[in-house]
Amino acid sequence: MTRHVLVTGAARGIGRSLAEAFVANGDTVSTIYRGGDLPDGVTGAIADVTDTDAVNAAFDELEAQHGRVRVLVANAGITRDGLLMRMSDDDFSQVLDVNLTGTFRCVRRAVNSMMRERYGRIILIGSVVGLMGNPGQVNYSASKSALVGMARSITREVGARGITANVIAPGFITTDMTAELPEDTVKQYESTIPAKRFGSTAEVAAAAVYLASDAAGYVSGAVLPVDGGLGMGH
Ligand code: NDP
Repeated sequence: MTRHVLVTGAARGIGRSLAEAFVANGDTVSTIYRGGDLPDGVTGAIADVTDTDAVNAAFDELEAQHGRVRVLVANAGITRDGLLMRMSDDDFSQVLDVNLTGTFRCVRRAVNSMMRERYGRIILIGSVVGLMGNPGQVNYSASKSALVGMARSITREVGARGITANVIAPGFITTDMTAELPEDTVKQYESTIPAKRFGSTAEVAAAAVYLASDAAGYVSGAVLPVDGGLGMGH
């Protein structure tokens, strides 16, 4: 049986490219998703990452088909941008519930399987703004910086069991999430990125395939930027 890789939110955006890259790598790929078309060769189970029971049931369903999850890529995420003084409790807590607690729910269930296998690769999709900060994203950047502490605590807790946990910190990547940005904001961002362009979803996926590889077995608790140099030093 090939390696079971579970990517959350694989119907679109970065998650879709992640799933495609692992399929191309020869892995058996599944996803927890809320609906939509999936890439060829990807098995889906419907669940919202804010629902613990649904997440656990989706893992059970996918593991019954493909064996224990050996690689988890926690990708599902949302933004609810707004200036701090006008940000509602709901906008703050929804972002935390999906990006942080949703990731926790998936990681907790995945580690249960990985401990039995004495092998695991946990990859959390953070963001350059987790460490740089960004005006209008107090909720989002707080949720993403917390993933760094999460990956490092996982590393200390289960690192001796052959499990690694790392964060990929993408910069600005062309997806639905960044499609919402006004054109002049995009131009302004591009001017501050050393690479002078947004990244592609495939460039993020390539980093994940590396972190999940045997070659990266001694890389854990790291933050790997895929940001064209935007966050250097953070
Ligand atoms: P998209 O908005 O294109 O996709 C978000 C994905 O997350 C979708 O598959 C969506 O599913 C899923 N999702 C959202 N909420 C939930 C939920 N409650 N339960 C299950 N799935 C959910 O975003 P991107 O592809 O751009 O972003 C993917 C990840 O990368 C996110 O964590 C994001 O924060 C991060 N990121 C993105 C950057 C960018 O520039 N695009 C930069 C840095 C980080 P559905 O289709 O059902 O909505």
